[in-house]
Amino acid sequence: MTTVITIASGKGGTGKTTVTANLGSMLAYHKKRTYIMDSDMGMANLGLVLGLENMPITLHEVLAGKADIHDAIYEGPFGVSVIPSGLSLEGFKNSDPDLLRGIMADIVDECDILMIDAPAGINHDGIIPLAIADEVILVVNPDIASIVDGLKTKMITEMMGGKIRGAIINRVNRIDDKGTEEQIEKILDVPIIGMIPEDTNVRRASANRTPIVVKYPTSDASRAFRRIASQTIGIE
Ligand code: ADP
Ligand code: MG
Repeated sequence: MTTVITIASGKGGTGKTTVTANLGSMLAYHKKRTYIMDSDMGMANLGLVLGLENMPITLHEVLAGKADIHDAIYEGPFGVSVIPSGLSLEGFKNSDPDLLRGIMADIVDECDILMIDAPAGINHDGIIPLAIADEVILVVNPDIASIVDGLKTKMITEMMGGKIRGAIINRVNRIDDKGTEEQIEKILDVPIIGMIPEDTNVRRASANRTPIVVKYPTSDASRAFRRIASQTIGIE
């Protein structure tokens, strides 16, 4: 059975794309057939951080009805299948997010996990990935604006009949900061899946077009990603 997981936040810049690229890569490493898809059609970053930013066919062309989804799938780290979005504004304008659900149906039987990197915000294209997922994972930072936006995203997901799996707290100073964890858990009222530390290697890895779990596997953030991948998805 395939599980569709949307990585969402409400606020931009919390780490959705970073989480998608790294968790997706780790799941593939553990032999899960994993697809990661960039549904952030306006600010497409997933391809950028994986060195797949100049692909001829992307989700843009698929959502414009000009290409088949299977022509927009590229191999990423550890064999993860990546569906990038395009960088052009023209492509964004021509994409119809309402086609996402049908496209998902075309690929869902081919993988164990389909992870969707959601856009920020609660526009039409932002809420579709919340509604079509089996579960939504919120990515928040330990600051009040990000937590409030995460809460809003949770409420919208539930209003649409979706399910929140839990929240990842990204960019914490210390991953053993129980006070922060408990506080955020109380406000969001969802399980905390894990905490990822602030780590300069995240940005260095992105600049190298490689996820940190591949480029700097012994770094603190990589350790945290590995723990989350094994605990969340049940990999031993
Ligand atoms: P989003 O997809 O939610 O907009 P990104 O994943 O693109 O967010 O992350 C935003 C920025 O923060 C990027 O420059 C990324 O390298 C950086 N970043 C994300 N997580 C961390 C972290 N744990 N430590 C340091 N920098 C991070
Ligand atoms: Mg992003």
